[in-house]
Amino acid sequence: MDITIIGTGYVGLVTGACLAETGNNVTCIDVDSDRVNKLLSGSIPFYEPGLEAIVERNLASKRLVFTDSYEDISQTNIFFICVGTPDKGDGSPDLKNLHAVMDSLASNINGKSFIFTKSTVPLGTNKMIQSFFDDRLGKGIVYVSSNPEFLKEGSAVSDFQKPDRIILGSSNEEARKLATDIYAPFNWSKNRTMHMSIESAELTKYASNSFLATKISFMNEMALVCENSGANIHEVRLGLGSDPRIGDSFLYAGLGYGGSCFPKDVNALIDMQKAFNLEPGIIERTKQVNDRQVRFFFEKIMSILGTNLEGKRIAIWGLSFKPNSDDVRESVALKLISLLAPEVNSLNLYDPIANLHAKESLSDTSNLKFYDEKYAAIEGADALVICTEWKEFWDLDVLKLDLMHNKLVFDGRNILDKSKMKDLGVEYYGIGT
Ligand code: NAD
Repeated sequence: MDITIIGTGYVGLVTGACLAETGNNVTCIDVDSDRVNKLLSGSIPFYEPGLEAIVERNLASKRLVFTDSYEDISQTNIFFICVGTPDKGDGSPDLKNLHAVMDSLASNINGKSFIFTKSTVPLGTNKMIQSFFDDRLGKGIVYVSSNPEFLKEGSAVSDFQKPDRIILGSSNEEARKLATDIYAPFNWSKNRTMHMSIESAELTKYASNSFLATKISFMNEMALVCENSGANIHEVRLGLGSDPRIGDSFLYAGLGYGGSCFPKDVNALIDMQKAFNLEPGIIERTKQVNDRQVRFFFEKIMSILGTNLEGKRIAIWGLSFKPNSDDVRESVALKLISLLAPEVNSLNLYDPIANLHAKESLSDTSNLKFYDEKYAAIEGADALVICTEWKEFWDLDVLKLDLMHNKLVFDGRNILDKSKMKDLGVEYYGIGT
């Protein structure tokens, strides 16, 4: 099939590459010409395990092409919209990229077409897109379906190729059949496609992310109870998660959730509730608990470091919002850095792959030094703070901690063993441990 993917970010590029891999002819369009030029030379604009090889292979076979011109898409009639829908700043999603796509498609669509919206968009958006095309091009030309994406950065390729669900909200039989055919290679062992109404599909995406965010905030709330009571969040997690009705995933206390999706999707759901004149309950508390979590950890660090912070140097390990990604959007590590930077002499920062993106995001902060090696970052430091649970941080070489001014470790992801640290002479602080 001939397919056009609109937007070559995490969702678009992975979707395009994986659909080319299953034999489709895929054109990926992006308005960012620099990005398109890099992609044409086989360079991937972000870190995503396994993606480069698939892009290279399909570029070489010419099943995957990149363009920045909407004129190049007039031969296709299947479109997947994968542009960003960031927070506008007031909690509501900014749909300006989506509107730009709609305008561009309206001028370039050639005959009957099917649009699948992968971007996360608020309730009613797909019907709005449908009305737009019905008004501009006449009814029966464009059919719009909601097809929210559930891949996770860091494992996006395998998530796309082995999805736990494919959600399709459509009222058009032909669109449903088309999607069934496109996704058939990913449904081989078992059909994971769930057909539902457009609104249900739109809400399923927000409900999923908000539920996961709620699990995190719940555990962070329990961690604070642990800190005040002598209970240990690791033990509580194991006891809690062994109940199959609860399940054992996503029950980790820490610095809270970040990234380009959870914060904005939680905000958007609250915004939608308000638009329906519904009083936000659990979701609003989820956000509040998350917002206070970084500050709570910052205050803990401050209280241990004492008042005389002049000349203090703190090492930070982990800058990306999660391991296996160089994405620093809404990273809680960067939030913690913004709180710490004005208080101390300097911060030594290290991340296995996110240094570059973090440097761009923190360009206004002056007392930061970036390191390419984790132990170089702790030399002379008064404390080490772990912000992202990269696998390479799990095994701490305690001898190398001698490089530090103080063997003081704040573990914002609870990955180190507190009693082991104590035995090794490390002053250790986790969250709820
Ligand atoms: P991204 O910011 O990484 O990429 C979006 C791309 O769209 C950019 O390259 C941008 O230049 C391009 N773009 C913007 N306007 C355009 C236009 N008019 N025409 C063509 N291209 C245009 O975004 P992302 O992280 O891939 O997310 C895309 C959508 O998918 C969002 O709605 C997001 O919430 C959702 N989503 C993201 C993830 C994730 O893990 N990143 C997972 C599931 C769903």
